[in-house]
Amino acid sequence: MPQFTKRYRLVVLLGLASILALVLVGRWLNATKRGGQGPAEPFRIAGNLYYVGATDAAAFLITGPEGHIVLDGGYPSTAPMIIASIAKLGFSIKDVRVLLNSEPHPDHAGGLGVLQQASGAELWASEASAYTLASGGDDPDGILPLRALARIGVVGYPAMRVDHRFKDGDTIRLGPLALTAHITGGHTRGCTSWSFHVRDGDLVLNVVSACDLGRLATSQYPEQEADLERSFRVLRGLPVDIWVTCHARWWGRYRKFLASAAAKDAVEPFIDPQGYHAYIDAAEAELRSGRLH
Ligand SMILES: [Zn+2]
Repeated sequence: MPQFTKRYRLVVLLGLASILALVLVGRWLNATKRGGQGPAEPFRIAGNLYYVGATDAAAFLITGPEGHIVLDGGYPSTAPMIIASIAKLGFSIKDVRVLLNSEPHPDHAGGLGVLQQASGAELWASEASAYTLASGGDDPDGILPLRALARIGVVGYPAMRVDHRFKDGDTIRLGPLALTAHITGGHTRGCTSWSFHVRDGDLVLNVVSACDLGRLATSQYPEQEADLERSFRVLRGLPVDIWVTCHARWWGRYRKFLASAAAKDAVEPFIDPQGYHAYIDAAEAELRSGRLH
């Protein structure tokens, strides 16, 4: 009996220590710019596509005559910055009618509930992301300690109302705006890439928002590798002029923003099909090497 008690105590202590470590890391990420949510200047990428996210936790505004679309919401604490950035560009959060998400981790979905409250917009989710978004961050593929922490609200985020669910290949429309969903699973099961057109002057440009393509130690599922292989194929098959991802540093937000401000043609620095294919190639090399994200 005393042996059992000793081991039991050790397990409880270790459990508490890992919870504390996760909480502290979360706090630290939230408190520092390492979490990618330092303030960033909002700017036009091309046509009616704008950047309204933080230094690294990305968010995009796509404007239209019948209302606007926001893609991704950063952390819960990024949402007020996103709202301020939308206002700074001369638009209003109240005119945002549709909210979209790339993947339901706290750094990209955390702020969507706050944005939904502020706008009354309808949220569209992939079938595999819907539960996580609606529960405020409980990922069924997440490791157990993380799920437990999400359920008690330590690593989660404000739950949100999922108004519509979409399938692979569905197009979400708002007036003339049309974004096509590509389920590119692997990072999470329902990870969604988006393709759409942006008109800039005489040009019609192909835009792709590619989902995260890295495997995490904290979220794994049996079909993950097969999903990633398919995601590489799908993404390579999309026509692309401008590309972005949910982590702004991966597509060179700041570099392109500076180049655009100095360029004669402000859109030209964002046209980067090579960068897009390099992103997919790097993700594929990572998968082949067996490395985790
Ligand atoms: Zn993620």
